[in-house]
Amino acid sequence: MVTRSAEISFSKRPSYIARMARRVVLSSALLALAPSGCAPLYLRPGVQMETNNHGQEIIIGEGSKAIQFRSTIDLRPHLDKLGKMYDLITELNNLIPSWPVRKVEISENNDGEHKIENNDHLIIVKLQPGYLEVTTHEMGHAIFKVHLGGRSNTAASYTIAFQENLWQRIYYFSLGNENFTLLRDSNYGQRKSVNVCRDGGLNRLLHFENIGHPWDNATELFASSAMIYRWHAEELLKIILDPGTSTEKKRLGIAVWVYLRDKIFNGRYYSASDPFKGISIKDIDITDNELDFVLRFLLKSEESCANAFYYPRTSFYGRPEIYFIRPALEENRNGIIVNLLNDEDPKVREKMIDAISFPFEDPPEFSGDIFEPLLNKMAINDPDEKVRRSARLCLRTNKKWRAKYLIMDLNDPNSDIRQEAISRIDFGKDDDETVKKLMPHLIRLAAGDPNHMVRYHAADALEKLRRALGR
Ligand SMILES: [Zn+2]
Repeated sequence: MVTRSAEISFSKRPSYIARMARRVVLSSALLALAPSGCAPLYLRPGVQMETNNHGQEIIIGEGSKAIQFRSTIDLRPHLDKLGKMYDLITELNNLIPSWPVRKVEISENNDGEHKIENNDHLIIVKLQPGYLEVTTHEMGHAIFKVHLGGRSNTAASYTIAFQENLWQRIYYFSLGNENFTLLRDSNYGQRKSVNVCRDGGLNRLLHFENIGHPWDNATELFASSAMIYRWHAEELLKIILDPGTSTEKKRLGIAVWVYLRDKIFNGRYYSASDPFKGISIKDIDITDNELDFVLRFLLKSEESCANAFYYPRTSFYGRPEIYFIRPALEENRNGIIVNLLNDEDPKVREKMIDAISFPFEDPPEFSGDIFEPLLNKMAINDPDEKVRRSARLCLRTNKKWRAKYLIMDLNDPNSDIRQEAISRIDFGKDDDETVKKLMPHLIRLAAGDPNHMVRYHAADALEKLRRALGR
């Protein structure tokens, strides 16, 4: 990623007269420096432009239509490409008149990126084959933020479709059986690649042949889809209509097509004809059952792209189980979670417990009554040892159930469990209420437990608890 030490701001532009002196003429794609005092010059008839800072900044268009291109290199030899980018950005800006893209950084080493800089969309693009596709992908992120993302400026507001549940559901649906391969940038046009998911981690950013990561989140799926819809509509249609394409992939393709056509591109499409003109956005529905199928798929597949990409990421937003469980809980779709906790495959049961452990740190009010008895039963009776352990851990790390289960363990006939329970009390994090509930039990253990190690650790814990309460 290229960063510049000093941002060129519009307010710091030179005076009008000084600017006039720096105007350049573009004639028949040849650039000539204009003598100072010359009339304003044009990229082409009707499109004014100016260059500053030895060509490292070029502004194309005027007033509210102006777009700033900037770089660490002289951009004047690249006016032809900049002109094409200008036209494309102007076209796509019509989809986001309330917050258009006005800044473009031409990078020498960053294939493509979208960010927000001083509340402006900034897209970063490298001038290499496919740069218009990359421009469209990055513009897709800006369009997503305006039409689908959150209103705040949190990281999640750029990646989750807060304004549009349907798109979020389309994204979830795309993870099933890795159907998102239908919408990966580098599977289209000149850069077709068979290497879809084995380029794990950061490598995927380094290889231009493998661009697009629609599995990552709702905005990535959107940006990739918008690029393909805009530039490779015929190719996309061919795959969707191919009898060999799976029913789910077709469903995903049609949902994306109709969504983009009706909700984003104002009815416009970029193919010779529209085979889905009879389908309207109202007909597009991703059902709970379909999402439940996807969740089961994710839980079962250790090696799916989606899961593989969870590991190199630090944000939990990259973790699809979490993506799924939260909304499932919030939408009160507890049935699927209960079903999966009862799945015959121990791996599914274990991963499901693991998945709910995270959001349960701060459990939604409604969830406790349903899941607690079930997890408790699993902690005791599940035939699989790993599942029993996971269930136990989930119950005892959960804020809501923690005190109750710690007390239960402090009173367990097995001295190892009593001792382990003592070691699990978190003096830094447990709140006073939890601490007060544990106190009488620790007093009793410290005074009279038959096991001397338990007595010793209980006394020690009691000391720490008293100090914690006195803080
Ligand atoms: Zn992207």
